[in-house]
Amino acid sequence: TVRTRFAPSPTGYLHLGGARTALYSWAFARHHQGQFILRIEDTDVERSTPEAVQAIMDGMHWLNLDYDEGPFFQMQRMDRYKSMISKLLEQGDAYLCYCSTEELNQMREQQREKGLRIRYDGTWRPEPGKTLPAVPAGVNPVVRFKNPQTGAVQWDDLVKGPISINNEELDDLIIARADGTPTYNFCVVVDDWEMEITHVIRGDDHINNTPRQINILRALGGAQPVYGHIPMILGPDGEKLSKRHGAVSVIQYHEMGFLPEAMINYLARLGWSHGDDEIFSRAQLVEWFDSTSLSKSAAQFDPEKLAWVNAHYMKQAPRVLLASETQQRLAAIGLDTEQGPDLNAVLDVVVERASTLVQLRDEAALFYKEPALNVDELKTMADDAVLAGLTDFLAGLDSVEWTVEGLSGLVKSTIKTHNLKMPKLAMPLRLMLTGITQTPSIDKVMVLMGQSTVKARIANGLR
Ligand code: GLU
Repeated sequence: TVRTRFAPSPTGYLHLGGARTALYSWAFARHHQGQFILRIEDTDVERSTPEAVQAIMDGMHWLNLDYDEGPFFQMQRMDRYKSMISKLLEQGDAYLCYCSTEELNQMREQQREKGLRIRYDGTWRPEPGKTLPAVPAGVNPVVRFKNPQTGAVQWDDLVKGPISINNEELDDLIIARADGTPTYNFCVVVDDWEMEITHVIRGDDHINNTPRQINILRALGGAQPVYGHIPMILGPDGEKLSKRHGAVSVIQYHEMGFLPEAMINYLARLGWSHGDDEIFSRAQLVEWFDSTSLSKSAAQFDPEKLAWVNAHYMKQAPRVLLASETQQRLAAIGLDTEQGPDLNAVLDVVVERASTLVQLRDEAALFYKEPALNVDELKTMADDAVLAGLTDFLAGLDSVEWTVEGLSGLVKSTIKTHNLKMPKLAMPLRLMLTGITQTPSIDKVMVLMGQSTVKARIANGLR
């Protein structure tokens, strides 16, 4: 069976690139009816935080990327790594290196001067017939992996195709620090092996680690998984996507009112394609997600396209979902949907006008808050003729049938009697009723607000 994993380091929020990696690993596993594993790579204790772990879990949960195993935490697996390091030492595939920082710096300096590749020079690498330097007293050694010096590492990358790296280009990687803690590249190998990962899908910033990891894996006796390195996401300006380009944390998109299904659809297309399809469901994604359509070139993040995708999903979203999201988002800004018209009736009127949940909240908010009357703006809109019309209109509200037809009839008869153009009456009405002039059609707004509120607000505006 196919087993994939998402292995984030909990050093910040879950960014779009990470979310896309998780999505691809997830979709690949689901497509093959395999398993998807979550592994938190928290060995960088300085930079790892519980908040970041939570942010990753929240992001996965919001996107509904369910995992079959985990979360595993590398910090809880130290014993495994240490025993594997001992194993490599015993086998002679790893060795102790007593080089001090000064020596290593010096080594690099000399290599730089001679124009050589910067690499560990093998001072402590044991070879048949070679005498090693005397072990210095009081120094805790690091452990280095004894990388093969001949031959090549090869793999057929799911995304990039066949890759071959000569072992000559690799040096002897540190796999345990002087304090005994294992290093990143080592933990990944042990975990991918022990967790029986068949397909490693990750960002191509890891591509240089892969030949080293394959060598370590071989020394441990593990079978090589399939690797797929997906290209970075770039901002609209072609630079690596960063905070400069706006929100990069997935959860921020949740806050900004995007739907998880839209996010999934958009992220899926960012580096993968199925013909010309732009809109597809999660089920279709799973059905179609194979590695052959992964793009080799970097994808560009396009906020406008994401907005377009979101608008599409907003139109399709179940009403109950929109209602509960809107109700929660209104509550978060202190507005109670119990105090005002029925939320579903409000949504009927405003849903077409919103392409995010935040826009939907703002459209709906008009019906649950007292508008601040902008007297100056009202004055510039309403001359005496308009005021006379509004006064008549107010009086007419007592005897009108409280329906869209009844109210639009009254609007029409009022503008006719007072010889006004529609906006002349409608704009100040909107302002008095809602505090703004961009609203759904005014008769619908009035039906929802109800007679007493409408009368009170117009009376207040005319005062
Ligand atoms: N922990 C690594 C990261 O966050 C990913 C390692 C991997 O996928 O192999 O970049």
